[in-house]
Amino acid sequence: MKKLTVCFLSLFSLLFALLLTQGCGINPATGKKEFQFVSDKKEIKMGEQNYPYGQQSSGGLFIHDAELSRYVQSVGQKLAPFSNRPNLPYEFKIVNHSVPNAWAMPGGKIVINRGLLIQLESEAELAAVLGHEITHAALRHGAKSMERAMVITASMVAANIFIQQNNNTLQKQAVLGTAALSAMLLQTKYSRNAELEADKYGMDYMVKAGYDPAGAVQLQALFMKMLDKKSPHWVEGLFASHPPSKERLKQNKAYAKTLPKGFLGKDIFQQKIAKLKKWAPAYQAFDDGLEALHKKKYTKAHELATKAILLFPNEGLFYQLRGAIFFQEKDYPKAIEAFTESIAKNPHYFYPYQQRGYCHKKMRNFKQAKLDLDKSQALFPLEETKLAIESF
Ligand SMILES: [Zn+2]
Repeated sequence: MKKLTVCFLSLFSLLFALLLTQGCGINPATGKKEFQFVSDKKEIKMGEQNYPYGQQSSGGLFIHDAELSRYVQSVGQKLAPFSNRPNLPYEFKIVNHSVPNAWAMPGGKIVINRGLLIQLESEAELAAVLGHEITHAALRHGAKSMERAMVITASMVAANIFIQQNNNTLQKQAVLGTAALSAMLLQTKYSRNAELEADKYGMDYMVKAGYDPAGAVQLQALFMKMLDKKSPHWVEGLFASHPPSKERLKQNKAYAKTLPKGFLGKDIFQQKIAKLKKWAPAYQAFDDGLEALHKKKYTKAHELATKAILLFPNEGLFYQLRGAIFFQEKDYPKAIEAFTESIAKNPHYFYPYQQRGYCHKKMRNFKQAKLDLDKSQALFPLEETKLAIESF
């Protein structure tokens, strides 16, 4: 009986503390007061802290086309002033991942994957993607999920106090910290209502910025086409967090009819993604090479890595693939050579440092292993890297 009291007391005191710390805020959509545990300031700070980690977990920044990066940023900045929270510190970046995806962290930190960008056909479609993500940030969809998660965590923590006399689990939860939080921020699966709301508000922002709402309809049509094809990349990417549906397409079509037409921007968009299109066969070879590696077809994987490198020698990911194949083949010196090349092409991505660290560890070069693993941790703190460092 005593234990039960402790449990409920802990639960209520935690929830009460959460309620007291922030209390009331303004719902950005309705303008009405509502309970918010996560203040604007906290939300922005959390987004800023986790944005680099989110990028790292999505392949790192795409660094090969500064003009394209500026273009994506500029399209986002055209929309942001018309959002329900125009004063958020919005940022729009491209990450180097083939899976078609886009995400927004609380506070307006947004990315689009290379793999989605290349599927789009016009600036209005890009504006539709970014407008949708802006809405998730502006209407606090991510922050709201966090608040829900905090209530659940508080309950779980309380339950843990009840179940466990010692608090090992609690300590483990605290240790998870950054990586777990940024993963949670990225894995938000939005509700059906949040998705419909993000489409609708996103279209409003688009139209106010001068874009044609047809871009949003074309975007939904593209999603439905990919869904019909059951493209595996799409299932693990965008569709996981922003499930498309016939209902969304239908509602977007109906809403677009009520809005004025505007700028589609097909030519300018095609011009801006010309380099990306030129490099597409190289990335395809890389994706196929990764698949071959997973199937342990090492000769085939090597051929595809070499093909990718010949087509686009500046891309660090391709050397990283070569390194990963050598690592699987237990040829650690050659793997180190390839990871070193990968780092030379892009020193900002954690993965080749982590993998080169593992190679050095296998070769018992502990000093070099620690240097690499520390660098990897500085870029993207992960539990598995931490454990590797601790195991020396
Ligand atoms: Zn969404």
